[in-house]
Parts: sequence; structure tokens; C-alpha cells
Amino acid sequence: MLLDGRPLSKEILERVKKGVAEYGKITMASVAYDEDLESIVYFNSIKKNAEKVGIDFTSLVIKGEDLLDTIRSLNEDPTYTAVIVGRPFPKGITNEMVSAVLDPDKDADCLTFQNMGELFFGVEGVAPATAKGAIDILAYYNVDFKGKRTLVINRSVTVGRPLSQMLLNRDATVTVAHSKTQNVDELIDESDIVFLAVGRAGYLKSSSIKSKKIVVDIGINVKDGKVKGDFEADVKNSLVDYTPVPGGVGVVTSAEILKNALELTKSR
Ligand code: NAP
Repeated sequence: MLLDGRPLSKEILERVKKGVAEYGKITMASVAYDEDLESIVYFNSIKKNAEKVGIDFTSLVIKGEDLLDTIRSLNEDPTYTAVIVGRPFPKGITNEMVSAVLDPDKDADCLTFQNMGELFFGVEGVAPATAKGAIDILAYYNVDFKGKRTLVINRSVTVGRPLSQMLLNRDATVTVAHSKTQNVDELIDESDIVFLAVGRAGYLKSSSIKSKKIVVDIGINVKDGKVKGDFEADVKNSLVDYTPVPGGVGVVTSAEILKNALELTKSR
């Protein structure tokens, strides 16, 4: 079964549109540095959705060395109530630096120490959009996480760390794998749900799956102008339900960002 993210994305955007109409004007900003073409393209797609739901969206493209100062000035600028910052950050700028500088009350993708810390206490006020998208897409298809053996193949601050925490918050049993993990195939075999975010097309193939499971494909790989995930699906293998790329976690993630922007603005 294909776990299509588009109906959920549409539903979230409709709810946000209604919320914005009730609340009034919301203005958010994205910041990407000029060499980070992926974030620039990604933020342009969010901007299109923002315009559809009535959120004013300013997409800033800056020099890498100006990142922290740009964030500081957005913190101070009352026009903007939500901010997203492209990752990976420019050379010399770490997750910790951005986390420390960005105002947690404007943090629409849960980058800051405060919002990420709350997650570890089970408080999911502003959830990290990718992890939330991966979880919400399964919840939309009525997947219950309680007691499920879940495997997250990624340990980045953007994806794997918050996702594993959010799965624990939902009573899943969680294993996290990364490039130094041995026998990942065995872990995959033992899991009910596999979250893939390696960033390598064809990392996992449908043909290697021998028992019933769900694959949530978070990977985005662009080759020859085509977007592919990490999972190479084969509809003939009926043992696996999976989220497609494109049209899976990615489309939900961009809707989650706008939902976060609305929530942040409402709570000011
Ligand atoms: P990243 O920081 O490079 O993380 C990749 C992870 O994969 C790391 O934890 C790495 O392990 C692990 N890994 C690499 N090779 C492996 C192997 N052979 N076996 C097991 N694990 C392996 O990248 P990221 O920013 O988290 O993004 C990961 C992917 O998700 C990318 O394709 C990105 O485009 C995509 N993404 C999608 C969305 C969305 O909304 N759908 C959002 C963000 C990112 P180490 O930690 O040991 O290096």
C-alpha cells in the first residue's frame, strides 16, 4: 500500500488557511545562504503554499557569513513571527551556534535548544517539521506506534534525533542506526517500521524485505533532475507499505512548517 502524503498535506494546509483567516496577518521569513541551492528551492516551494494559505512569506538569500546577524535582526524585527533557516549551515556555522541565536518564540522548525529540549520532556509545542511529518503521515493512516519496533536510520539533529524522541513519546520501541552501525539488515528485518533518511537512492530495496513492515522514506536524492527517495519500491512486494518520494514525507513537512508558523504567531 502506498502511504500518500498529499491528502494529509492538503488537510493541514486547509486547517492553516482557516486559522490564518481567523487570526489575521502572519509574516514569516526563510533564510538560506547563496550556495545552498537545495534550501532555496525548498523554501520557494514552501512560499507557494504559504501564499495559498494567506501567510506572507519573505525568502531571504544571503551570504554565508551573514547568517547569524541575519537571524539576530529577524529576532528583533516585529514584522516576522516565524523564521526557518536552511540546513546544512554554511562552513564554520554549527547547529549549536544557530540554536543559541534564534529566538525560540520564532523557531518554526524546532532548531533551538529550548524547543528541542522540550521535546525531550515530551512537550511537542513546535515540533521539528520533518520528524513530525514522518510521524503524522503514519498517524493519518491509523498506524499505532505503541510497542512497535521502530528503526530510525539516521542520527542527525534535523531528522533522527528528534524523530527517535518523538517515537519514544508515542511508546514505540526505538533503535537508531547510523553509518557505524553493524548488521543494519538484521535490524531492518526485526523492525515493524523503518524510517529511512540516509540520503542514498536505492539504499533499501523492496526485494530485500521478507516480513511485513512499513517503510517511511525521508530521503531526498536529486539525480538528472529527478527526485528519488532512499527506498526502491516494487509494487509486487505486498509485504511493505511505504511513503513515496516525491509525494510522501516531503509534502507533509512543508505543511507542518506553516502549521508551526501559525501556532507560534497565535501564542505570542
Ligand atoms: P545527514 O546529516 O547526512 O544524515 C544522514 C544519516 O545517515 C547519518 O546519521 C549517517 O550516519 C547515516 N548513514 C549514512 N550512511 C549510512 C549507512 N550506510 N548505513 C546507515 N546509516 C547511514 O543528512 P540529513 O540532513 O539528516 O538528511 C538525510 C536525508 O533526509 C537526506 O536525503 C535529506 O535530503 C533528507 N531530508 C528530507 C526531509 C524531508 O522533509 N523529507 C527533510 C530533511 C532531510 P552518521 O551519523 O554516522 O554519519
